[in-house]
Amino acid sequence: MTTTATEIRAFTANKFEAPAKFTEFCAGGGKPLGGIIGGRRVQGTMNVTFESTNPGSLEVLATVCEMGQAEVAEAVEVATKAFHGTGNQGWKDTPIEERCRLAMKLVELCDRDRDVLLACEILDGGKVSELAEGDFTQIRGCAEYFCGVARRAELGDGDALQVADGVRGFTHREPWGVVAGIIPWNYPIVLTSWFMFPALLAGNCILIKPAEDTPLSALYLGKLAEEAGFPPGVVNVLPGRGEITGQFIAEHPGVRYISFTGSPGVGQAIMRTCDRHGTRMKREMGGNGSAIVLSDADPELVARMIGRYTNQHYGQTCCTVHRVFVDQTIADDFIDAQRSFFEDLQIGYQADAGTQLGAVVNSTQYARILRAQEETASRGGDAILPGGVADVGSREGYYLRPALYRTKPSIDCNPQEVFHTFATICPVDSAEQALQLANSSPYGLGASVWTKDIERGVALAKQFRDGTCQVNCHNSIAYGLPYGGQGISGGPGGGVNCEDTFYDYTQVKAVYVANYPA
Ligand code: NAD
Repeated sequence: MTTTATEIRAFTANKFEAPAKFTEFCAGGGKPLGGIIGGRRVQGTMNVTFESTNPGSLEVLATVCEMGQAEVAEAVEVATKAFHGTGNQGWKDTPIEERCRLAMKLVELCDRDRDVLLACEILDGGKVSELAEGDFTQIRGCAEYFCGVARRAELGDGDALQVADGVRGFTHREPWGVVAGIIPWNYPIVLTSWFMFPALLAGNCILIKPAEDTPLSALYLGKLAEEAGFPPGVVNVLPGRGEITGQFIAEHPGVRYISFTGSPGVGQAIMRTCDRHGTRMKREMGGNGSAIVLSDADPELVARMIGRYTNQHYGQTCCTVHRVFVDQTIADDFIDAQRSFFEDLQIGYQADAGTQLGAVVNSTQYARILRAQEETASRGGDAILPGGVADVGSREGYYLRPALYRTKPSIDCNPQEVFHTFATICPVDSAEQALQLANSSPYGLGASVWTKDIERGVALAKQFRDGTCQVNCHNSIAYGLPYGGQGISGGPGGGVNCEDTFYDYTQVKAVYVANYPA
């Protein structure tokens, strides 16, 4: 079956209304939503709350308590107790089948409350329903994949080696203990699942630190985890600002391992903090993805495909395309087609039918994107669509227009992740020149080649300095293949969604046993 250019459209909203259960959850029985620590709702000793708002209407959805140093310490304590338990009854000793049963019970409850979780993603996260519904399927996909990995994983003692006369040695692989997941705001359900399932199934007790802009889905998942029957202390949720709650988590020596997803600057800072007391870490960070379009590609078809990815969650997608290198023989047609795709995007409220480009998440991002648009032009980017503020009638929110620039190989006008429907298009003389320009970025998350010549595409794609190298597709993820970054986009750690991810949540010791000296 062939796809025609006109069939390719941006992710689009159906009309969405919050279910009563979501409104009731947000109301918190008249109290701010507390953190979840050891099965208790905790308001926090700092007496600080923050509001979680709908970015497309600025309506306050819920008031949430911020967790401070005392709550982080308490969470580490209860999680440590739940890990060890008394006797051999801790989470670390729970048989794999029981861990899988609880994980799949949690998935069932998510399916039951699908609309509540979609409301978190659409209203709190600002996403259109088509994308939010896809995100929701990741909960089950992730749990099922990691139950499979956990069942075949080799934990415990490895084969013994005779290392010397009367001395044998073997490896012992076990969970870390207490691990924390620090989550960004752009894909809350997906990224909480990608952390939570492998970490729990490997036998760790977890602290989830959601982003301050989108705390609702993690709080709801924490509530469902309790209902599913996870023992108190195994799943804890600590909402709060990064520089407060997140920082206290990074500073606590009882947290043995941190899985961080977010921006490179914050990831680098947390790594330095963790290094002071030996907490290990994996990091999945930002990107500034590139696409190379070869001369044999259909410029209109490919421009629309790339436009769809660039606009995925309004460009607030870590691995998406923001830098395009197109063969100069088709550059004008490609630019025309991408401009018309961007111009036709339906800008509006994310829960109204037909919306394709909604509001960005907060005022900081809004100001940052506007500044980046100005900087791109001042660095020599020739504005095809200049961006700027979008007027969406009666709605209040952080609405912006898409931005598109024509550039040249000699100008680096797009050096940083902008995180909006924003792209530079650079006509090039050859695929080799395009590859050299694509690889000149310090980021390295996702890149693609677009061509009818698959063999040539694969040969070029393998030369990207990126964790995900693609031919005729972008924003690709699949369980069983690592999703991680090179350069400042990722590491250490084996990426997410693969067997190495599971093993990242375990540590290995060497055990030596000698005969008693006679
Ligand atoms: P961010 O780095 O600002 O925040 C991420 C998380 O870190 C939040 O929970 C925040 O509260 C916390 N945090 C901030 N300062 C902290 C500190 N000092 N100590 C501990 N925690 C702290 O990122 P963001 O703006 O929320 O998310 C967008 C970024 O995430 C983009 O760069 C995007 O590309 C990246 N991202 C990467 C992936 C990936 O898989 N590679 C996926 C999604 C998003």
